[in-house]
Amino acid sequence: MTRIPTTNWAASFHYGFQDCLYPSSVDAVCDIVVRSAKIKAVGSGHSFNAIADGDVALSLAELPINPVIEGDGTRVSVGAHCTYGELALFLHRHHLAVHNLASLPHISIAGAIATATHGSGNRNGNLATAVCGLEIVSGDGRLVKVTRGDADFAGMVVHLGALGIVTRVTLDVQPEFQVAQSVYDGLAWDKLLTNLDDVMALGYSVSVFTKWGQEAGSVWVKRTASNDDFPAAIHGATRATENRHPISGLDAQNATQQLGQYGRWSDRLPHFKMGFTPSNGEEIQSEFHLPRKHGAAAIEALLSIRDKFAHLLQVGELRTVAADDLWLSPQYRRDTLSIHFTWVRDQEAVNAAVEHIEQALSPFSALPHWGKVFTGRHIGAKYEKLAEFARLRDRMDPDRAFSNAWLEEAIFGSSETQGF
Ligand SMILES: Cc1cc2nc3c(=O)[nH]c(=O)nc-3n(C[C@H](O)[C@H](O)[C@H](O)COP(=O)(O)OP(=O)(O)OC[C@H]3O[C@@H](n4cnc5c(N)ncnc54)[C@H](O)[C@@H]3O)c2cc1C
Repeated sequence: MTRIPTTNWAASFHYGFQDCLYPSSVDAVCDIVVRSAKIKAVGSGHSFNAIADGDVALSLAELPINPVIEGDGTRVSVGAHCTYGELALFLHRHHLAVHNLASLPHISIAGAIATATHGSGNRNGNLATAVCGLEIVSGDGRLVKVTRGDADFAGMVVHLGALGIVTRVTLDVQPEFQVAQSVYDGLAWDKLLTNLDDVMALGYSVSVFTKWGQEAGSVWVKRTASNDDFPAAIHGATRATENRHPISGLDAQNATQQLGQYGRWSDRLPHFKMGFTPSNGEEIQSEFHLPRKHGAAAIEALLSIRDKFAHLLQVGELRTVAADDLWLSPQYRRDTLSIHFTWVRDQEAVNAAVEHIEQALSPFSALPHWGKVFTGRHIGAKYEKLAEFARLRDRMDPDRAFSNAWLEEAIFGSSETQGF
């Protein structure tokens, strides 16, 4: 029986798919592309907007992920639909790790790199920066293999689903490492604003969870064994003595272990455990990336309009992501502070709140997360490399088999298609 994806993971967006194809080999993927006027790859469906929408979906779920260690243990190649959780299980057996993970391990690698999905850490690039090779079926049904350093490689990694069907990825890996995390409660806004750089540098990966209320909130500090021990307090916030959920007050059983106990990188870097669904899915997310030097001013700008959005929030999160050279990465040549919002699932009210946020952040060169909710149009125009990406797409997909309304409007600014 054909399973047709009907909604995204959060059920906040309804796909328009009439059919879904499940090829069981890369050759079959190539055949489908040759025969299809339009085809859209779906990953794990975790994006919150129409980026993965289309008429006919293609899922790689029937292909084996077949992970292979390469380069004397410095790389792993794997089926692109592999989730980071599945990848971590394989890497454990070889005592290897990837450099970072998003807040949950359930997302597919292809979908994550397509949207420049990221974790946190001043020195950690987004997840796409670990990609050193791609196999991608282009619009003419050819399997194109590229590796880092090839012409246009930097344009292909954060691909927004626009260039083809990614069948296999190769990622940089490193020896496994241990991480411990501790949560600090009660950080005051004035302490955060005065010490923002210091707070975000407290560990390998740092998140500040906030409800944009009277106090800034809690700081989640993830440290590797090479960092110092966890102090009892930081900037007036005190170390929690029991596990926390990112949304204060919720049961912490699906959150990863805290309290400063060291464990595997993959059991600490995400906030949510692999074995659990991270929440009930009744949420919408938005996120805006801006140069880190504007961080405190951008937070102050949002504090001045918090009455426009805070009532719709489940929780917000501040993270940092290191600069890279990937053309459509929001971190392209800039270290960012990334300001995330987990909303209640009320799309209309959220859209209105997001417009206020976009306005408040506009002086700070903010760029939206590609996979989350934003209202701005022709975001591609804000990217220095858009024209090169457009030429790359002309070569990879001249007949626009992989296009959809979201792509044309959000990236290329065309108003020909509706339904964004
Ligand atoms: C609970 C939750 C937590 C999240 N946490 C984070 C976080 O910590 N950090 C962060 O940055 N983001 C986060 N996100 C956002 C999420 O990582 C992105 O939306 C990501 O794109 C999801 O991957 P996916 O596989 O579900 O992609 P999908 O939503 O299925 O697809 C996204 C895009 O990738 C394309 N695509 C997918 N597979 C392929 C393929 N094989 N070939 C070509 N194109 C393909 C699709 O066509 C589409 O354009 C979170 C989302 C949720 C729901």
